[in-house]
Amino acid sequence: MSQGTGQAGSGPSAAVVGAGIIGVCCALFLQRDGYRVTLIDRQGPGEGASFGNGSMLTCEAVVPVQTPGIAWRVPAMLLDPLGPLRVRWGYLPRLVPWLTRFLLESRWPRVEAASIALANILDRALDDFDPLLRRAGAEAEVRKTGFLMVYESEAGFRRAQPLIDLQRRRGVQMEMLDADALRAREPKLAPIFARAILYPEVAQALDVFRLVQILAESFVAQGGSLLREEVRDFAFASDNRVAAVLTDLGRHACDTVVIAAGAWSRPLVRRLGSDTLLDTERGYSVLMPDPGVVPNTPLYSTERGIVFSPMEIGLRVAGTVEMGGYDAPPDWRRAEVLLTHARRWLPGLNTEGVERWMGFRPSMPDSVPVISGSPRSDNAFFAFGHGHGGIGLGARTGRLIGDLASGRQPNIDMAPYRVDRF
Ligand SMILES: Cc1cc2nc3c(=O)[nH]c(=O)nc-3n(C[C@H](O)[C@H](O)[C@H](O)COP(=O)(O)OP(=O)(O)OC[C@H]3O[C@@H](n4cnc5c(N)ncnc54)[C@H](O)[C@@H]3O)c2cc1C
Repeated sequence: MSQGTGQAGSGPSAAVVGAGIIGVCCALFLQRDGYRVTLIDRQGPGEGASFGNGSMLTCEAVVPVQTPGIAWRVPAMLLDPLGPLRVRWGYLPRLVPWLTRFLLESRWPRVEAASIALANILDRALDDFDPLLRRAGAEAEVRKTGFLMVYESEAGFRRAQPLIDLQRRRGVQMEMLDADALRAREPKLAPIFARAILYPEVAQALDVFRLVQILAESFVAQGGSLLREEVRDFAFASDNRVAAVLTDLGRHACDTVVIAAGAWSRPLVRRLGSDTLLDTERGYSVLMPDPGVVPNTPLYSTERGIVFSPMEIGLRVAGTVEMGGYDAPPDWRRAEVLLTHARRWLPGLNTEGVERWMGFRPSMPDSVPVISGSPRSDNAFFAFGHGHGGIGLGARTGRLIGDLASGRQPNIDMAPYRVDRF
């Protein structure tokens, strides 16, 4: 990809750290507001968590991860290395502050509040992609596919009722299907499901990595600079404003800075004089390039914590959560579990040439992202912590950061997304 040619114009300058879906969308919205934007990533655009994920733009995702009763699952999280939610023993001591807050946030009033905060930003999440896709000539990269939540047992469906009711309270559109209706829609699925819910408004990126690349190319084509450098620190003016971003290769003066470094944002937040309870939920995916059989609609199972996403490049099965920090090597047995489910759900599936991947979700303990100004430097902004939903929330986050940086008041209460909310 071209790196950009330097930027014309006399608008203020902005540096955006991180070229995942969030950073690229922030850069595009700042550009629309007349900023001369430099987007900085130590890798290529979209090579972090935005690479091998489920590719879904989930506008129904108003249910946080920390649901009521999850505390009872902590022993299983510690004892079952292959379960849908796993905590690695070795990482437990470092995880205690995050895990404690996660459990506190799983009480009903907090879950209700998190779900309102999520609903308020999911509300226009898809619409906000429109101008970015139009400008990039890439409208066809995102399509409304709908999404089927499948349940293997009546008991599992009954257990999910309080969360389905939570979605209803947030106005999520859904349609209930019994086993026969599901079979009529999805004849290739094994007959092992008792129930399903169709969420018709959910969309999918044909190939999420390609989407980020196309958006980054559009940013460069509109005069943006894209640098492959690692951000290490910041230089400050006497009034605490950030004067420059310091990287392994140089110093970039800026009028505004946005931290969108995904799961790796916390050290940068600290350099800017704040702190945050950001950690990472590692997740795995397998991509079957020539699957033979695919479902007609993307599928999700809350019981298993996995998504089946039929994409242009093949069938991707992605998901599960592993709290294991940043340095431990991947546990590829978890990817094998995904393959086992894939074979069981889709008889006749061809898994030859399968590609495995592990990614680092940027996760806050209340499942609500940080979209916020810095309490210390009034020209620094934060956009990270999107957990399981960063793809769908990319454009919405970019628009909100554009509003905050340009001094426009967003039309929602921004307190739930503040960096210093805990
Ligand atoms: C298995 C799995 C399945 C998922 N499925 C879905 C899904 O279907 N739908 C959905 O919406 N979400 C999904 N997600 C979540 C989604 O992938 C993330 O929420 C999203 O990608 C986060 O985007 P980001 O831009 O914040 O982070 P990233 O894409 O990780 O980007 C952060 C960037 O910052 C860069 N960076 C970090 N530190 C520095 C530094 N110091 N200097 C320079 N650059 C730096 C990194 O190189 C990286 O490119 C899934 C995640 C996983 C793991």
